[in-house]
Amino acid sequence: MGKFALADEQLGRIVICRKCKARNHAGTLKCRKCGSVYLRPKRKEKRVKK
Ligand SMILES: [Zn+2]
Repeated sequence: MGKFALADEQLGRIVICRKCKARNHAGTLKCRKCGSVYLRPKRKEKRVKK
Protein backbone atom coordinates (compact mmCIF):
# COMPACT_ATOMS: atom_id res chain seq x y z
CA MET A 1 0.00 0.00 0.00
CA GLY A 2 1.34 3.36 -0.96
CA LYS A 3 0.77 6.74 0.46
CA PHE A 4 -2.21 7.48 -1.72
CA ALA A 5 -4.99 4.97 -1.43
CA LEU A 6 -6.80 6.35 -4.41
CA ALA A 7 -3.72 6.21 -6.55
CA ASP A 8 -3.15 2.61 -5.51
CA GLU A 9 -6.63 1.73 -6.51
CA GLN A 10 -6.13 3.39 -9.87
CA LEU A 11 -2.84 1.66 -10.48
CA GLY A 12 -4.48 -1.71 -10.05
CA ARG A 13 -6.75 -0.97 -12.97
CA ILE A 14 -4.22 0.42 -15.36
CA VAL A 15 -1.96 -1.12 -17.91
CA ILE A 16 0.90 0.60 -19.66
CA CYS A 17 1.72 0.35 -23.31
CA ARG A 18 5.25 -0.93 -23.77
CA LYS A 19 5.54 0.94 -27.00
CA CYS A 20 4.35 4.46 -26.29
CA LYS A 21 3.85 4.19 -22.52
CA ALA A 22 0.30 5.42 -22.70
CA ARG A 23 -1.94 4.39 -19.86
CA ASN A 24 -4.85 2.15 -20.71
CA HIS A 25 -7.57 0.62 -18.63
CA ALA A 26 -6.84 -2.88 -17.42
CA GLY A 27 -8.62 -5.44 -19.51
CA THR A 28 -8.14 -3.55 -22.72
CA LEU A 29 -6.44 -5.54 -25.45
CA LYS A 30 -4.92 -2.77 -27.47
CA CYS A 31 -3.32 0.54 -26.66
CA ARG A 32 -5.80 3.30 -27.30
CA LYS A 33 -3.05 5.52 -28.59
CA CYS A 34 -0.90 3.43 -30.90
CA GLY A 35 -2.89 0.20 -31.16
CA SER A 36 -0.03 -1.88 -29.79
CA VAL A 37 -0.92 -5.09 -28.00
CA TYR A 38 2.21 -4.96 -25.90
CA LEU A 39 0.74 -3.94 -22.61
CA ARG A 40 1.90 -4.55 -19.10
CA PRO A 41 0.21 -3.99 -15.76
CA LYS A 42 1.40 -0.95 -13.94
CA ARG A 43 3.66 -1.78 -11.05
CA LYS A 44 2.21 -1.43 -7.61
CA GLU A 45 5.26 -2.26 -5.57
CA LYS A 46 8.37 -0.25 -5.38
CA ARG A 47 10.76 -1.38 -8.01
CA VAL A 48 13.68 -3.39 -6.72
CA LYS A 49 17.00 -2.66 -8.27
CA LYS A 50 17.80 -5.22 -10.89
ZN1 LIG B 1 0.76 2.60 -27.20
